This record gives sequence, C-alpha cells and structure tokens, in this order.
Amino acid sequence: MTGDPDPSRSGPLPKVTPFLLRRADDLCARRLDHEFRGEPGNADPVHRGRLRDAFLAAALDAHERDAVLGPWRVAGRRTPEENAALEQAIHWYRHLFGDRSVRVVELGLDRPTEAAGFTARLGGWVDLVVVGDDGVHELRQFDLWAGDAPDDVLTHPAVRSALVRIAARLGDPATESMLVSWTDLLRGVRREARCGAAGLAAARAAVHAGVDLVVARTAHPGAEPGADCATCRFRKGCPEFPGAKTVRAGRRDPLPGVLTVTPTALESWTR
Ligand code: SF4
Repeated sequence: MTGDPDPSRSGPLPKVTPFLLRRADDLCARRLDHEFRGEPGNADPVHRGRLRDAFLAAALDAHERDAVLGPWRVAGRRTPEENAALEQAIHWYRHLFGDRSVRVVELGLDRPTEAAGFTARLGGWVDLVVVGDDGVHELRQFDLWAGDAPDDVLTHPAVRSALVRIAARLGDPATESMLVSWTDLLRGVRREARCGAAGLAAARAAVHAGVDLVVARTAHPGAEPGADCATCRFRKGCPEFPGAKTVRAGRRDPLPGVLTVTPTALESWTR
C-alpha cells in the first residue's frame, strides 16, 4: 500500500499524523479509520495549537525583522497560563537560537501534504525550517508542554514525518544535510543531530511501516472500547455510545464540544 498514488483517484488521499503513526497498533480500529479517512467528528479545542501558533507567529515576525534577540511582538488573546508559557518559550528560543544567522524557509507544510511513494497524505506540525548563511537548512521542532526529550531526535515520530515531507519539497540532498533539532522551550533542553542519508532513509521506512499498519488495521474498523473513548471525537454512530451526537466547537474555543467527567476530574475541580 505504499506505491505511488493512483492518478485516477478522486478526492484527497487519506491522512496520517504522527499521533496516528505512533498509535497505529493499538488505537481503536474504528477511531483509527475515522481519523485516517478524515471523517467529521466532535470538534475539540486545540490548546496546544493556540500556544504553538502564537509562538511561531512571533518567531516568524522576529526572524523577518532580524530581531530574534530584540523585543518580540506577540499578538492575540491568551490565558495568563499561556502567556507565562509563551514568555518562557521566547526566553529559551532567544537563548538557544539567537546566535545563528538564518532566514525562514516557507515550504507550505501547514496542511497535510503528499509525498511520492506514499498512499496517504502526511500531516502533523512542521514547526520551523530555516536556512543559514552557509546554505545549510535546519528543521527546528519545538515542545511547549514539557514533554520527554527524545534520546535520539531522529527517531521522534514528528521529526520523522517532517523529514519525509521536507524531502518532498527540498529534495534528498538538502534534507540529508539538514541540522535537526527538538527543543523543549519550557525547560531549555535542546537535542540536535545531522539528518544524513541514513536518517532520512530510516524516517521513510518508519513512516512507510506506520502507514501500512494503519491501512491493515482499518481494513476491519470495528469499535474497540477502552481508555481512548474518553478523547474520541467519533462517538456518533459508535455502537458503544448509542444516541451520541456530534458537537461542534470552534478551534479557538477553549471549551470542548463534549466534556468528559471522571471521578478524578471532579475531585480536581474542588481542590
Ligand atoms: S467511542 Fe470508543 S469504541 Fe467508539 S470509536 Fe471511539 S474509541 Fe472506538
């Protein structure tokens, strides 16, 4: 299932994200299938997206003004917690990347894109691609939520997917010579590695294997209830939730369409 896309097809290819590739072997098959085919479901707020979008917009502006070390313009309304995280992220970005003279490269990867040899579009966040004065490109992936730092940045699912997509735009030689970093911008932890031919080949192999697994598991998309039901957007029509409806909410709405209440969640509200 990983040959060239069928030119006679109608409509977009199904889509995988780093999350789907990471959970291809154990996510409920019905949920996996709905995500893969892009079925509409409950719209949930993307809190991580709010913070990421605000940070990247400010970073792009700072690079455009050639003022990474100067004051940053940060537009938009956020919660006090988001503002505190943003302030920390800007501090660490300036500290860790301020000494490198680069310009931002726009590759149009803010939506899922096709790559030769893959029968699914590849999505997920590609944070910042820049090129230095020496002509060497950099991929800068960020974590603004204090996630675990990968020991090897080139094995991170989001990095692998991003490298495959970047190679479809820049070509293999430029991608192989890329400096790739993953940075926890809340704690100032940066991991870096040169992509290399082996890194790109491993990324392609891993994404291929993930897509193949998603295709195989979605051939029989039966409901498999479990812990993932709590965050599932596709309860409508699911035999486990008879009578469930689809609830819409704006991407920027801080409240979810469906609020899942658990004893732990209720207890934390009263603390
Ligand atoms: S609600 Fe649960 S069982 Fe139904 S599709 Fe979602 S994850 Fe699967």
